[in-house]
Amino acid sequence: MSYDENNIFAKILRGEIPNDTVYEDDAVLAFNDIAPQAPVHVLVIPKGPYVSLDDFTRDAPAEEVGRFFKTVGEIARSLGLDGGGFRTIANTGADGGQEVPHFHVHICGGRRLGRMIAKA
Ligand code: AMP
Repeated sequence: MSYDENNIFAKILRGEIPNDTVYEDDAVLAFNDIAPQAPVHVLVIPKGPYVSLDDFTRDAPAEEVGRFFKTVGEIARSLGLDGGGFRTIANTGADGGQEVPHFHVHICGGRRLGRMIAKA
């Protein structure tokens, strides 16, 4: 799947759509999910044009991948989630239920989240 420059997170990165920023550096943006599923629900995205975890881990340099996931952990700690715990989710493709085709990791926490996957 090729990268769609008009996906909503690409528009956020270009400043065309507002976001509630939690963290930003030269490679990563994190912002609050518009429809939170938990008391804390933050999305972390690389600034590069990656569709999903699939092409990100295949095509991005290992240093960029490592730095991205280190940043995910740093953001979770900065949100105070490391004590009680939290969940990270990277939905990938149709079976994964991915809606926005720009790679993102959900960080959810602030309550007991229950089972990993609800029965369909
Ligand atoms: P996924 O199903 O993994 O692709 O998740 C996409 C997420 O993006 C959902 O949790 C949406 O609520 C969230 N979302 C969609 N549009 C926006 C937006 N403009 N700002 C923040 N979050 C958004």
